[in-house]
Amino acid sequence: TPQLRQHLERLAAEGIDVVRVTYPDLIGTDRARDVLLDHLPAACEHGLAFCRAAYHTSPQGDVVPVAGGLDAGLPDIAVRPDLDTLVPLPWEPGVASCLGDVTDPVTGAPAPESPRDLLRTVLARCDEHGLRPVVGPELEYFLCTADPESASGWRRYTEASGVVYTAGLRADPDNHLLRTLRQLRDLGIGVTNGNHEFDGGQFEINLTHSDAMDAADRAFRFKAAVKELARAEGKLATFMAKPFNDAGGSGFHLHLSCQDEEGRNAFDDPSAPYGLSDTARHAVAGVLTHAPALAALLNPTVNSYKRFGPDTLAPWLIDWGLDNRSAMVRVPPERGSGARFELRLGDAGANPYLVIAGTVAAALLGVLAKEEPPAPLEGYGYDTAKAALLPTTLPAALDALEADTALADILGKDFTASFLAYKRNEVERFQRHVTDWEFTEYAYHL
Ligand code: GLU
Ligand code: MG
Ligand code: MG
Repeated sequence: TPQLRQHLERLAAEGIDVVRVTYPDLIGTDRARDVLLDHLPAACEHGLAFCRAAYHTSPQGDVVPVAGGLDAGLPDIAVRPDLDTLVPLPWEPGVASCLGDVTDPVTGAPAPESPRDLLRTVLARCDEHGLRPVVGPELEYFLCTADPESASGWRRYTEASGVVYTAGLRADPDNHLLRTLRQLRDLGIGVTNGNHEFDGGQFEINLTHSDAMDAADRAFRFKAAVKELARAEGKLATFMAKPFNDAGGSGFHLHLSCQDEEGRNAFDDPSAPYGLSDTARHAVAGVLTHAPALAALLNPTVNSYKRFGPDTLAPWLIDWGLDNRSAMVRVPPERGSGARFELRLGDAGANPYLVIAGTVAAALLGVLAKEEPPAPLEGYGYDTAKAALLPTTLPAALDALEADTALADILGKDFTASFLAYKRNEVERFQRHVTDWEFTEYAYHL
């Protein structure tokens, strides 16, 4: 096609000879193939063949039994490059990055488990109701340096304390943050700023808000890029929810608003309660109602539930508040074009496409049902007399997702079934594993 020819000419002129075609698997890991430029036209025509295990392989290497996977002989999926997402990789001369869409190799139809397609499906539902979600992601992560002495082989980059909202060499002696911010800017991630977080070795980087698919693509690429750049320094960047016992967790805060058909912020209404339109209040209520099921998508690991707790600034209860960081949903003080809510539930380890698809779906359900939220939280948010608890384990959240048929209907039966099968296998593998804690707790006294 002429479009493909233009891309090829531009890439060749920029000295690019390899295109890295990346797509998110079920858990949000970036899976990719490096494609020589000469082969790109064939990849666009037929898609790149991957075995279905590309979705269902656990980080420990097990092919997880999910319907249509091993039981069907691990058939192919075809990943088709989305040329609109082509961008040169600033730190890898000669290489451009491109996102891919996962399709059926015979019919060309989107694969039901494709996180990008899941989000497309949810956004199409919003579109039917004249709503265009606008999303701003904020992600925290820990940077680790190699430590042969420690059991994991890694320790926190610095052990400094009291470093929250500092910048510069005292908390970041290798200037990791500055270098990372600049590379992310050059990659087109749309980062606005970054800072040191509460705990030594922990950083936060914020992304601009944009339409939901673009924001999900950028958050997905952001995580992969931060991990890649850390490896280039011989370090490990991890977005897992709660990597250390002696430090807090890493959140994936999501700012959400909606545009109406005229492009105005549909969440703003100076004459409505709290200055929040009916749409905004219904959306908040939907997120509260569906929070137990949402946890399965936004807090998708056995480790996720160790981040929750009183006084963590991560949530613990299902509540909302006006500029209150101890609530699960915080409504920042801005109104007008800045009217929005911040969902603080997600942890950074979650798959950005599932975080955004799930949150938008829950908000839409609230809007369609015209749900009204309870009175906002006043004061301290970690008081169990004031609101219900979030699920405290991954199995409880998975059961809540299965029981939430309204949410599962929007996400699609095939996706929900695969996600539950994958995650229940993870829970089983964990439950069979003996941890260090158990030896320390029991070995001497029992
Ligand atoms: N680290 C906290 C979390 O897990 C958030 C801290 C903050 O408000 O920046 O969500
Ligand atoms: Mg933060
Ligand atoms: Mg935040």
